[in-house]
Amino acid sequence: MCGIVGYIGNKEAWPVLVKGLERLEYRGYDSAGVAILHGGNFSVYKKKGRVAELSKFVKNENKENIFGGVGIAHTRWATHGEPSDRNAHPHLSSGGDIVIVHNGIIENYLSIKKILTEKGYKFISDTDTEVLANLIEDIKKNARVNIDEAVRLALKQVVGAYAIIVLSKDDPNTMVIAKVGSPVVIGMGRGEFFVASDATPIVEYTKKVVYLEDREMAIIKNKKLTIKTIDNKIKNPYFQKLQMKIDELEKGGFPHFMLKEIFDQPRSIEDSMRGRINIKNAVVKLGGIENYLDKLVNAKRILIIACGTSWHAGLEAKYFFEEFSLIPVGVEYASEFRYRNPVIYKDDIVIVISQSGETADTLAALQLAKEKGATVLGICNVVGASIPRATDAGIYTHAGPEIGVASTKAFTAQITALLLLCLCLAKEKNILNKKRMKELLTELEKIPKKVKEVLKVDEVVKKIAKEFKNAKNFIFLGRGYGFPLALEGALKLKEISYIHAEGFAMGEMKHGSIALVDENMPVVFIATKGPLYEKVVSNMMEVKARKGKIIAILSKGDKNIKKIADYVIEIPETSDVMMPFIASIPLQLLAYYVALFRGCDIDKPRNLAKSVTVE
Ligand code: GLU
Repeated sequence: MCGIVGYIGNKEAWPVLVKGLERLEYRGYDSAGVAILHGGNFSVYKKKGRVAELSKFVKNENKENIFGGVGIAHTRWATHGEPSDRNAHPHLSSGGDIVIVHNGIIENYLSIKKILTEKGYKFISDTDTEVLANLIEDIKKNARVNIDEAVRLALKQVVGAYAIIVLSKDDPNTMVIAKVGSPVVIGMGRGEFFVASDATPIVEYTKKVVYLEDREMAIIKNKKLTIKTIDNKIKNPYFQKLQMKIDELEKGGFPHFMLKEIFDQPRSIEDSMRGRINIKNAVVKLGGIENYLDKLVNAKRILIIACGTSWHAGLEAKYFFEEFSLIPVGVEYASEFRYRNPVIYKDDIVIVISQSGETADTLAALQLAKEKGATVLGICNVVGASIPRATDAGIYTHAGPEIGVASTKAFTAQITALLLLCLCLAKEKNILNKKRMKELLTELEKIPKKVKEVLKVDEVVKKIAKEFKNAKNFIFLGRGYGFPLALEGALKLKEISYIHAEGFAMGEMKHGSIALVDENMPVVFIATKGPLYEKVVSNMMEVKARKGKIIAILSKGDKNIKKIADYVIEIPETSDVMMPFIASIPLQLLAYYVALFRGCDIDKPRNLAKSVTVE
């Protein structure tokens, strides 16, 4: 959460920083700020609200000091202190020598603050970050060291997670960057450097980047980059070439990134399987995990660990793995798993799933699983992020950048990658014969086309959304492969429309939650044709008898359910296992349109941010 940006070079820093903040705004958007080194001092501009507010504020009244070639910027998702101008970053030290932006949490900030207050330091904000600014200033003054050494010594005292960029007005040609937990990437241009929480603000200037590792610092001094550890060991920078394209970061004519990303799914699913299936030979080829196939074959158990939508993809995968590879699968919330004492065996395979590859809880759970000796595989979208770097091996989903905070195409790409992994394993274990494997792969290959077709339900869903825009609650029900979708459908609606919604396993309804159903309750049924179809019909009748408003997602041509349901969304027929790829689309559209009719800020829902890099 939160985005940080830095620039040092011959350009004007302000436009680079503001554009960078706009690109990173999906990570946090409760306040924004910029600091520029101008005439030997820092000009700091910060504002509660969006980056646009900050730009407006500067444009209207305050633009004389924004010129300079060195600066840092921040878009915040508050952890310590309410969103306000005062708590917005960048933060200056008491003496005004140091300025800092920070993503993360300094856990021992209170004890450091106490010592610094006793020494006479004044604190203006409620943030943990300001403590670090003053600590660095204090060390720099008393130990009489350069800014890079002062940062290093300060970080040795700090407990927590951070990506920081620090400037000192005494060292105007130096920028110091460091990280533990939160991500940061440095782009190298000609005599200039770009720093950001992810590569999106950098890609239009340079493709040559270095991702900092945990406990590393980067010091850019007089146009030279040095990387060392916080323990003062020099490291060789490992430069990578960015693959990202700029048009992937624009809305491309859509009103919101979320809608663009929903409509991008025929392409993103296709890219997730590109080069990985060979129907003729009935094989799945996953280069990233090839060396771990033996371990997978011999595993007695798979543990899937994730958060949010990725957790729902993991739950879907449990059904895949149990059906096709006969391995018991546990699905865990990373935030619970990491604080228990989970029993993990050396021959367990742990699969972690994260769109951003930076989810703090998932990263910590991964580290715990590794400490306990498990083999850890990753399913991630962002190439080179912390999770894929920390896992033993993995599969990239190749969905392309996902900017909308509510995850859509990442989910379908994750289940694509997980199904491929499952089929690959089924083949290795000789569970599926060649004919069945061919059938499944042929069907999978057709999914992008079917997703294109299902997107035509857009108008139907829009009408239903209009009807229910003022609903107070929603229930989503599914069985089998439809159960994780019910959870996901409810999550989508909650996060962007703020309507209370719950997803249930359909069969569980009568054990309690059916008490919620009355004539005002919209109930979304995932009711496609499949082995549990008759049971679904019975459950639908039970809800109808209690006057619930039934919205059914059903297989095209199903006359039976059409007679029962109040509203229907027809989707192309597929086998049960492929249904989640298709049925997830109307659920995403429903959430989108309900939020639209309610006037919600769809790409930046309240209280949320993408890439949850704090615990
Ligand atoms: N902990 C810092 C704050 O509350 C940084 C939060 C963030 O990552 O945006 O300001």
